[in-house]
Amino acid sequence: MRITDIQVYRVDLPLKEGQYNWSGGKSVSVFDSTIVRVGTDAGLVGYGESCPLGPVYLASHAGGVRAGLAELAPHLIGADPTQLGVLNQLMDARLKGHPHVKSPLDVACWDISGQAAGVPVCSLLGGRFGAEVVLYRAISKDSPENMAAKVDGYRAEGYTRFQLKVGDDPDLDIERIRAAAARLRPGDRLVADANTGWLQHEALRVIQGVRDIDVYIEQPCLSYEECLAVRAHCHHPFVLDEVINDTPTLLRAVSERAMDVVNLKISKFGGLTRTRLARDLCVELGVAMTIEDTWGGDIVTAAIAHLAHSTPEALRFTSTDFNSYGTVSMADGAPQRVNGRMAAAVIPGLGVRPRAEVLGPPVLSFH
Ligand code: MG
Repeated sequence: MRITDIQVYRVDLPLKEGQYNWSGGKSVSVFDSTIVRVGTDAGLVGYGESCPLGPVYLASHAGGVRAGLAELAPHLIGADPTQLGVLNQLMDARLKGHPHVKSPLDVACWDISGQAAGVPVCSLLGGRFGAEVVLYRAISKDSPENMAAKVDGYRAEGYTRFQLKVGDDPDLDIERIRAAAARLRPGDRLVADANTGWLQHEALRVIQGVRDIDVYIEQPCLSYEECLAVRAHCHHPFVLDEVINDTPTLLRAVSERAMDVVNLKISKFGGLTRTRLARDLCVELGVAMTIEDTWGGDIVTAAIAHLAHSTPEALRFTSTDFNSYGTVSMADGAPQRVNGRMAAAVIPGLGVRPRAEVLGPPVLSFH
């Protein structure tokens, strides 16, 4: 099978709640998502999606996804989309780094590979563990009262895992965590994600201030070394996210006992091929995972569902249904949250059928 053409689309994804706020005053109201359609000489078509969390979360931005695709996509015409190892080597030979550019191409080729094999992508990734994938809800940075109220609101929608966006003034963050924790019920889990927003001394103050609370602490500081220093004084379960972007860093963090849970984002690692490698290592090493992406719509959510569903349940800390945060649905067949859970599609490939009227005309086209 050969890749015959690659089309690139841009879809804006406004948020139902208007804005998503996290540490350092960072905020997004409309996510700019890039959709890739890979066509083949076998008539099979695959889709992938890359949606950075704005331009100041990781070293990625939406315009850069498309600029990178303009550089990389022409080199993939004629390649076999089912030979994912060869394909990833080819991408690395033609563009250094830029995992968020390679991710939608890699995911689209997994979609094609699943269709070619007649099985859902999760079957190729290891199989389907359990009936469903348990989801968390991110709670945008707001006043302690409003964030606490959202715990109740999201629980009414079926969520039992809540991730608070903190990383602000330590005293205010302590209030936020305490207010939200007061709303928890047995079985709920609470994560305070500072998204690199605290200095070391601030992180230590917050941790001391919530010492009696059952809460996970996620990515307190900017650098790996700062997080490691904070971790040494932290009695709470500890999650690393922004500083774990590749397999060597993941292995270093495991060997240095830098975390209890790691956040694996598909576009951060460069697609399903590399995130699966990280996932499999975590399974072998006993490290629990949040399996998700930076952001996205229906196609990203489908890719998350397949990777999460093919991960042993005990190692799945949680995942995200990004397609429920936005007002725009771009595809039929995407996972839909039911009672705080979702499932990977059972039909071959990713199982998504994007709607042409939502994608609009391609912004880039390669033959
Ligand atoms: Mg995080």
